[in-house]
Amino acid sequence: MPTAIEYFKLLPKTNCKDCGQPTCLAFAMQLANQKAKIEDCPHVDSGAKDTIAEASAPPVKTITVGTGNAKIPMGGETVLYRHERRFINPTAYALTVSDELGADEIAKRIEYIKSICFDRIGMIFKVDMVSVRNDSKDPAKFKTAVENVMKLWNQPFVLESDDPAVIKDALAVCKARVPLVYGATPDNFDAMISVAKENKVPLGIKVSSLEEAVTFTEKAKASGYDEIILDLGAKGIKDILEQQTIARRAAIKKKFKPLGYPMMNRTGSGEYAVMTAVISTLKYGSLVIFDDLKNYEALPLFTLRQNIYTDPQVPIQVKQGIYPIGNPDEHSPIMFTVNFSLTYFTVRADIEKSKVPVWLQIVNTDGLSVLTAFAAGKFDSDHIKAAFEESGIMEKSDGVVIIPGLVSRISGKLEEALGRKVIVGTTESKNIPKHLKEITSQ
Ligand code: SF4
Repeated sequence: MPTAIEYFKLLPKTNCKDCGQPTCLAFAMQLANQKAKIEDCPHVDSGAKDTIAEASAPPVKTITVGTGNAKIPMGGETVLYRHERRFINPTAYALTVSDELGADEIAKRIEYIKSICFDRIGMIFKVDMVSVRNDSKDPAKFKTAVENVMKLWNQPFVLESDDPAVIKDALAVCKARVPLVYGATPDNFDAMISVAKENKVPLGIKVSSLEEAVTFTEKAKASGYDEIILDLGAKGIKDILEQQTIARRAAIKKKFKPLGYPMMNRTGSGEYAVMTAVISTLKYGSLVIFDDLKNYEALPLFTLRQNIYTDPQVPIQVKQGIYPIGNPDEHSPIMFTVNFSLTYFTVRADIEKSKVPVWLQIVNTDGLSVLTAFAAGKFDSDHIKAAFEESGIMEKSDGVVIIPGLVSRISGKLEEALGRKVIVGTTESKNIPKHLKEITSQ
């Protein structure tokens, strides 16, 4: 990305303030920090605008599959390591639907793909795409399969065939949904890129080496259409790790544009396929297409992806407020904890296990865990009291207040601040069910 001084050199330097900044230099600094857009300055000339757009484009091109509310951006990354800046566009996972399947079998297959769905710490994990594969080699069957999939699947999808004529036929019925065409190879490249260009859909290119990738991305660029995703043709996990790292490093560190494209992998099913996806997710893959994926394989994979693509500097949080669990009434106990998502969902799950109705108050601690928030002065009796007052929880119930065992030392102060009996709870969430049952049976 250009520096503030490089941006400044291209600005009109009139300090007119029309961009909302006091000077052109201040605006240049905003641009360098990605807090402003060049369009915010109405006086910059089009030549400078183009130069800035070119210079500030992410080193890995963003390619979007799908359209409207059903689209998945891929690539667009600007860093090599997630501690530098958050990775932007998570790896997408796709499952295959063969065009050998009849309408009923496709319906069952789509139902199965949709059933791979989990709620983890408030986020929904699901399969992102389906890949319709031309196993039959029959254009009519492929087109029918695509039509059947489209009736039941409103998310982005892939057309998988290395026959340009088959793809052309299928695009006649689905190009408005902007599918990814996966099937360009060195042998069919010219025909495939012209079909993709004509229909304005992204194209997956299968090559067999990094050198070949450079040849074909440059060819695509020269053709005036480089909406492409690269399959580097890795022969196994080690290859994926090596090639995708080299490609991403070249794009980001060396600003080598011919390798600055999203990357994808085609894999099978079973443990090796999951390992392939793990490496691809860890090492810059934007899309993994599976032959098949089981629920028990998907959960750890999706969890890994969630960890890679969240900002390590910003804990995942839930909102401060009241979370009633199990229809609590005016005498139900009041529990409270911090707003770090992992803590909230763990505590919530353990309260649910107890079957005891509880009012759960979440206190905003900027996503810090109980002891860290306490040490940082964000989980003391003043903060807790303020959260209780804001939500009005004390008016909802006259039940006891249960303080997390880890901060039992402030129970006296809190009792005084709230004017309500405070019971010391468990230090570990897993003991909540037993403790709640004991309290409510007294
Ligand atoms: Fe400078 Fe443009 Fe901002 Fe005016 S609007 S101060 S010319 S950057």
